[in-house]
Amino acid sequence: MDRNLILYPDPTLKKVSYTVTFFNDVWLDALISDMHLIMNQFNGLGLSAIQVGEIVRVMLMAQEDPEHPLVLINPVITKTYEKKELMKEGCLSFPGIISKVDRATVIDVTYNDAQGGTHTKTFKDVFAQCVQHEIDHMDGVLFVERVSPIYRISLADKLKHRRF
Ligand SMILES: [Zn+2]
Repeated sequence: MDRNLILYPDPTLKKVSYTVTFFNDVWLDALISDMHLIMNQFNGLGLSAIQVGEIVRVMLMAQEDPEHPLVLINPVITKTYEKKELMKEGCLSFPGIISKVDRATVIDVTYNDAQGGTHTKTFKDVFAQCVQHEIDHMDGVLFVERVSPIYRISLADKLKHRRF
């Protein structure tokens, strides 16, 4: 495997990922397999392809069985329920940084699987948070940019030596 976890402040993390238009594909399957290994290696709940250097809209999210993460390709939030909550959040690309981000606690998401099928699913709590975080990655948005103002000062101090 020649893919590695990309860490802030690598400028790749600011790129906007492309929509996936090919399915049942060897390259796509290999990417998903590499992402699965890397996510488990670093004990992550979720991982976006951009974090391993591929600018395509692919994310993995851990399920109860670590051998079978959920693969979401081209995920789009189709409904955001009203309730928002400040949730503790971290990112594999920011080792050691935890902060609080305002996230919807329930969302509906439409996405493709690796075979090109389309699904719509409701995600709650930490899983809703994870999908929002990974879609942000696909849009080049990092969780530290979403941190609530009251937490921003302490975060700026921690990130001082890690600028883009
Ligand atoms: Zn992340």
